[in-house]
Amino acid sequence: MNDRVEAKEIESVCTYCGVGCDIVGVVEKNRIVKVYAAKDGVVSQGKLCIKGKYGYDFVEAADRIREPRIRRRFLDRNPELAERFAERLKPLDGEWMRTDLETAAELAAAKLEEIRQTHGPKSFAAVGGARTSCESAYAFQKFCRETMGSPHVDNCARVCHSPSLKGMRATIGEGAATNPYNDIYETEFMIVIGSNTLEAHPIIANRIVDMARTHNNLAVIDVRRTKLAKQAKYNCVIPFEANLLILNMMAYVILDEELYDKEFVANRTKNFEEYREKILKDPTADPAFFKKVEGYEYLAKMIPNIAREYAVKRSMIFWGLGITEHLDGSYAVMALTHLALLTGNIGKTGAGLMPLRGQNNVQGACDMGCLPYYAPDYQPPEEEGLMTPQLIDAMEKGTIKALLNMGEDIAHIHPNLNKIDKALENLELLMVQELFMTGIARKADIVIGVKSAYEKTGVYINAMRRLHLSQPLVESDLPDDWEVLTLLARKLGDEENFSFESSEDVWNEVRRVAPRRFSGAAYFRLERHRKRGMQWPIYHEDTPILHLLDFRTEDGLGRFVYRPWQQRGMVEEILRGVFYRESLEGYYLTTGRTLAHYNNAAQTGRSEKLDARHAEDLLWANPEEENRFGERVILRSAHGECEALKVAYSDAIRSRTLYTTFHHATSRINALFGDESDELILTARFKSVKVEVIPVGEAWAGS
Ligand code: SF4
Repeated sequence: MNDRVEAKEIESVCTYCGVGCDIVGVVEKNRIVKVYAAKDGVVSQGKLCIKGKYGYDFVEAADRIREPRIRRRFLDRNPELAERFAERLKPLDGEWMRTDLETAAELAAAKLEEIRQTHGPKSFAAVGGARTSCESAYAFQKFCRETMGSPHVDNCARVCHSPSLKGMRATIGEGAATNPYNDIYETEFMIVIGSNTLEAHPIIANRIVDMARTHNNLAVIDVRRTKLAKQAKYNCVIPFEANLLILNMMAYVILDEELYDKEFVANRTKNFEEYREKILKDPTADPAFFKKVEGYEYLAKMIPNIAREYAVKRSMIFWGLGITEHLDGSYAVMALTHLALLTGNIGKTGAGLMPLRGQNNVQGACDMGCLPYYAPDYQPPEEEGLMTPQLIDAMEKGTIKALLNMGEDIAHIHPNLNKIDKALENLELLMVQELFMTGIARKADIVIGVKSAYEKTGVYINAMRRLHLSQPLVESDLPDDWEVLTLLARKLGDEENFSFESSEDVWNEVRRVAPRRFSGAAYFRLERHRKRGMQWPIYHEDTPILHLLDFRTEDGLGRFVYRPWQQRGMVEEILRGVFYRESLEGYYLTTGRTLAHYNNAAQTGRSEKLDARHAEDLLWANPEEENRFGERVILRSAHGECEALKVAYSDAIRSRTLYTTFHHATSRINALFGDESDELILTARFKSVKVEVIPVGEAWAGS
């Protein structure tokens, strides 16, 4: 008897980061046994990082949510519902009852209707993640706005790239990467700022490294020496909260030395003269400012050198959350676009702006209208809703009564965890659609297990606006997110808006509602071009490069919006002579990712190979601290404390600064952050918090 199993090879897209690598899944007996990149993969170039390669075990993890769960406490609080559904609920454990999808949806709909009748439609809010497909993201905002009648929909871009969208739209009219990744091979100079690209976007970093090694044309600007900086001509380590300062200085040099592209500025921009006058009069914009900043004096020369190379060459800028997660994140993004506008480094091959988007579909979730101030296609919504931090305040106050959460762990990855815990406690209904019992799912009243990206069909949009139609690697009888929403909407009587029978039905509606971007992106075309993908806007052709002739503002012109840097934080303390001191208080902590994990590690944490590489969050400090810190420390900020963290030492970390990852919920790193956020768009200030270090090991006891 021949018991050889036929292996199938199925092309799809990686479920992790915004790079959006094409993958091939090798599947035997409906199990993924291997994932690799096709040699001719357009995004992957035949290589995947370890997350893409090994991070598929989660699909068949024993703790996937297979049946909907209803919390017993919710039933105790809602005796009428408990009685009505009693025969359809079965015990799961001491905390949960289990049931079928129909019952869970009916029960949720009954509670949602009661809340809507009692407290009005705006007592409902929906916060989604960007791990699911465009079809589900579209259905999510539609359910919130049209079925429930609430404007309060948001997505996890709130804690990552919302400032990129805000800053780019304010200056060039479109909040998305301007060029394809392969333009890196056409560029002459690259600036990477606030991005740990080798770990967070490794397959893009491969291209940057290729070019930097052969052309010595890379500047890396960060508060620590990242791995990518080893390849840099300019390893530009800057003080905390100085992004806007440095970017304004670069513009100052370009203006002062008349390195700007006069023709481009005259033909394609406005407000230039006003901008020029303001910046040249701003004393903090002169790089000579750094001569007085102890420990960072070298920047007074290095910044002008970077600015000069950027201005005279065909250049690209890449940035990550090190730019956006600050008080002035949106303004720093505007300052980045100013550099491109001044020098004409935009709207052509090998020159442009590349925000390195975090999750695999964060571009798509925003394009689909999962933002309180944008409907699909960035159209104004009928009414603007609240952003997630405002929603959390409203939950605390008791005006938001019901929250639908789709693949977004706000109980782990948002700031001010102690406040969030209290706010969630106040809800009458917390419903979660998830793969696993994440932090937020454990606090929910109703939890519905859904298909993962490797089990469904759907469109994902990566960090270069590339649409990829994914197809399932394995079959699953769990519902897709959009199917749960469709069922829920129908139970609420909204068959009219939710007549979808397939993900293609949902997508075809997206194409009608957002024709400027997606009308030409029919499934059959996306299938045909699965490996290459297509970059929006897509009509007959796709659009690899944006802004060739005009910017996407009303008059087609780019705008300068000057914002002086506000002196504060670490730079101010250095200038006052109080930063370098002996105390264990007053360290500046920044956060980031490691290669092996993604976000809250809900998926990567279920892969032995990945978890073995990074089973706990580490704190990194300068070696001069070793005698004082020892092996483990607790960090305390004005907002809370984290759990004890193991300390590693490296001279990549500057004196009196600290760096940690925050993948593991058990570390409670996010308890250190408060409500400080981007002043325009409320993205949390995850990249800078002042902490006290509390050693918990023997080294401190003996010192
Ligand atoms: S770089 Fe991103 S998309 Fe590519 S394999 Fe790694 S995690 Fe997946």
